[in-house]
Amino acid sequence: MPKTSKIEWTQFTWNPVTGCSRISEGCRHCYAERMAGRLYAMGSPRYRNGFEVTLHPDLIDLPRRMAKPRLIFVNSMSDLFHEKIPDSFIHKVFDTMAGCPQHTFQVLTKRSERLHRIASRLPWPSNVWMGVSVENQKVISRAMDLAQVPAHIRFLSLEPLLGPLEKLPLSAIAWVIVGGESGPGARPMKEEWVQSIRLQCQTAGVAFFFKQWGGVNKHATGRMLNGRSYDEMPRMTVVPKRTLAPTTGSRARRGCTSQWKAHGTKRTHVPLPVLVA
Ligand code: SF4
Repeated sequence: MPKTSKIEWTQFTWNPVTGCSRISEGCRHCYAERMAGRLYAMGSPRYRNGFEVTLHPDLIDLPRRMAKPRLIFVNSMSDLFHEKIPDSFIHKVFDTMAGCPQHTFQVLTKRSERLHRIASRLPWPSNVWMGVSVENQKVISRAMDLAQVPAHIRFLSLEPLLGPLEKLPLSAIAWVIVGGESGPGARPMKEEWVQSIRLQCQTAGVAFFFKQWGGVNKHATGRMLNGRSYDEMPRMTVVPKRTLAPTTGSRARRGCTSQWKAHGTKRTHVPLPVLVA
């Protein structure tokens, strides 16, 4: 089964590939690399190659076995567009996503050039959200590459945010996630960078999700901004059994709504109604 995730903006992770290699500043304290090292030390067969790129063809069809609609982050332990992953394997992952309209898949890459290069040969069903990570101005070209990808929902993950991003190209973007780096050696994130991005999203009518302040102890710093949490999500494209009142007005037209609802002290995903643009 795909694994339940603690990541604030998803429900499950599915890793048909594990392992990666560093490509930019945002990779310096890669969580996946740390975790792969731990799992290798524990003798986990999936991590027998440590953090080397390793394909797991037996996991390609895993989401097809799940009937219940899920929000699934693809390759949390790798980068699907890594140069060592064959085009044919990427196609298989996309075929599975296209064959599972009950789920919503979130794919995130730092290899935007390859994504851009092969995007026209991939299927883009409406249940696939495509995102790129942008940690500072040096790699802003990833957002330009993404803008040309024919995904139904395009999103930016600005985590770990390492510098100001003053003029984000948001016209083709439905969702922005912001987060500070966490764990040993975490680099600081300034509040003024976060506020600027929040305002840019507000002005452009883009859903804004503030994941965390980060730091050495992310639980101590939390995820409150301006005295509240920001949990906006793009609208889901699956039909849920339960429904919520849809967001109305211009934000709804751009695919923005909140997907979260508090259940006691625990945060739980709540499926959204169909509001496909
Ligand atoms: S691209 Fe992602 S998974 Fe790969 S090394 Fe960088 S942070 Fe880690």
